[in-house]
Amino acid sequence: MKTFEQRLKLIGMESLQSERIATLQVNVGKLCNQACLHCHVEAGPLRTEIMTRETIEAVLRVLESHDIPNLDITGGAPEMNPHFDYLVEQAAAIGRHVMVRSNLTVYFEEGRQYLPEFFRQHEVEVIASLPCYLKENVDSQRGTGIFDKSIRALRWLNAVGYGKPNAGLVLNLVYNPVGTYLPPRQEGLEVDYKRELGDRYGISFTNLFVITNVPIGRFLHDLVRSGAYETYLQKLRDAFNSATVDSLMCRNLISVGWDGTLFDCDFNQMLNLSVNHGAPTTIFDFDMSQLSRRRICTGEHCYACTAGAGSSCKGVLTS
Ligand code: SF4
Ligand code: SF4
Repeated sequence: MKTFEQRLKLIGMESLQSERIATLQVNVGKLCNQACLHCHVEAGPLRTEIMTRETIEAVLRVLESHDIPNLDITGGAPEMNPHFDYLVEQAAAIGRHVMVRSNLTVYFEEGRQYLPEFFRQHEVEVIASLPCYLKENVDSQRGTGIFDKSIRALRWLNAVGYGKPNAGLVLNLVYNPVGTYLPPRQEGLEVDYKRELGDRYGISFTNLFVITNVPIGRFLHDLVRSGAYETYLQKLRDAFNSATVDSLMCRNLISVGWDGTLFDCDFNQMLNLSVNHGAPTTIFDFDMSQLSRRRICTGEHCYACTAGAGSSCKGVLTS
């Protein structure tokens, strides 16, 4: 049985190295209005880890002083951070492309109804989870009633101009498998999603991102509890695809934790595996020259990114 590092060596890579930082992915906290079964962040309404204004200012200083074109804001439900609007406004004002990973249902929480219009004003790219176009599958993974709310939220986003051809307001959906299998082909599933959501609910969107479940967080607990962990990991190992390695997302982004700690990706963040090998470890001592050419910390969970067509926060890595 090969570890991920041994597998890389077999294809001639001594270690995984980053190439640039094109995206700052910022996790502004673990607070969420939902508590989904598969959540790798283990987010929920009772979590108290929230990025402070001081750390948000440090994020903005890094964006202002470096050529990092993209800010990808995630959580929890990132919109629940009290400094969320400020972060979006300031990043958009300095010309950064802002993406928000939204669970859609947060727009119905008290005082959050302004969000779709706020996103439109700042031309935020909305990336929204919808693990299926069937109600029963979504509700089983994300909670009863979540599907209906998600549909209402998507209609709302469409109504302000999102997801329409040529409107320039990007609405991407995210699919992840409901069980312990690899996702189907992204291209074909996107066609199915567009047809089903269009025909059933009149919803349009830009692209579908297909993501492989990474065995960490609540999904890992569930795998261990049900005795399926080894089988799932072996499935990922068996599906290793060397063509994905050049495009792994950790090679061109860096992830910032709610307390300012730096990680190679959001998954390493959830494992508390901060950047290492001599690179600075917090946003407060960000050093582009060291961080853009850092050695990446890998582990067995990395097999989820290299299985099949590959997987990243923006979907598959190969066609
Ligand atoms: S998966 Fe998303 S919506 Fe669900 S609990 Fe986690 S952060 Fe919240
Ligand atoms: S989990 Fe994926 S993105 Fe993160 S370090 Fe491993 S290969 Fe890179």
